Amino acid sequence: MFSSIIGNETAKDFLRRMIAGGRVPHGLLFAGPEGIGKREFALELARAMMCRSASDGEACGECPICRRIGVFELPTSEKGEDYDRVFLSDHPDVGMAIPFKRNLRVGAIRELEREANFRPYESELRVFIVNDADKMNDSSSNALLKTLEEPPSTTFLILVTSRPDSLLQTIRSRCQTIRFAPVAAGEIEKLLLETHKLSADDAAVAARVCGGSVGRALSLDIAQFRAMRELMMNVIRSAVVTGDLSAMLQTAEQLNDAKNKDRFEENIGILQTLIRDILATSKGAETSQIVNADIAGQISELAKDPNAAALSRWLIEIEELLASLNVNVNRKAATDKLFVSMSA
Ligand SMILES: [Zn+2]
Repeated sequence: MFSSIIGNETAKDFLRRMIAGGRVPHGLLFAGPEGIGKREFALELARAMMCRSASDGEACGECPICRRIGVFELPTSEKGEDYDRVFLSDHPDVGMAIPFKRNLRVGAIRELEREANFRPYESELRVFIVNDADKMNDSSSNALLKTLEEPPSTTFLILVTSRPDSLLQTIRSRCQTIRFAPVAAGEIEKLLLETHKLSADDAAVAARVCGGSVGRALSLDIAQFRAMRELMMNVIRSAVVTGDLSAMLQTAEQLNDAKNKDRFEENIGILQTLIRDILATSKGAETSQIVNADIAGQISELAKDPNAAALSRWLIEIEELLASLNVNVNRKAATDKLFVSMSA
């Protein structure tokens, strides 16, 4: 049931009305930040369309159809060819294509095109979810476009993406876009406390630093996060107070070592929120308005005598660094450059 997913009440109401009124378009684009439950919404839409006890646009959530729709066996293999297919759920009329690394392979989209043309097996319709649709290259996009141009009357496609602007305009124009928003920290905190074994302190921190992403909050390793945040606070202290560039460069090395390199973006993101918090605090923000509220004391210490111009410049440089990661930039060199600039 949609009511079992937290947040995005407006999108829920909209989808319920659309389903109840029998007005679900054949192409849908679910857009919104990473980890806020877009895929769950897509599966829930499939349930609401197929469940035989559905009412007012809500599936029952309990019948075998509803249960089977959520069950997928997805590959963990490192071989690209293993992803050249559509993965059907335990219900054979619901399937999804998923990317391999940074690519949604054309093989997967061609398979989707074939599957989309089959008659439903069990239900009256078929629903296919295209995960991380922004990871399609030109050939994948063109293959998908063919399916979107003339979808069989029984086929519904849901494209899921955190970067809708990266999709071809021709694809976007054939889909109805539904936007999903980050989930409020209070709601995430409540969920963490109800369903997971986090202390109240840890749940409060996780709910705030996850940026509205339930997925991120659930998978966050709190101890690791706290350790990395301490490291990033030291980078800022070095830049602002001690001017210790060699300590900063040591941290740059650490950020790129084998243990941390897979979380590079995330860790730079921690630095980013700390700088934003310092800047906001220096402009009079209350503790409740900052992300790292649990270390508000340390934040306001650094915000006492701020160089607002420098802080804003760092934020721009961090944005540039993050954007450059899409092209194969040398991360260590880019981090050194950022830290040298911050210490200047
Ligand atoms: Zn059901």
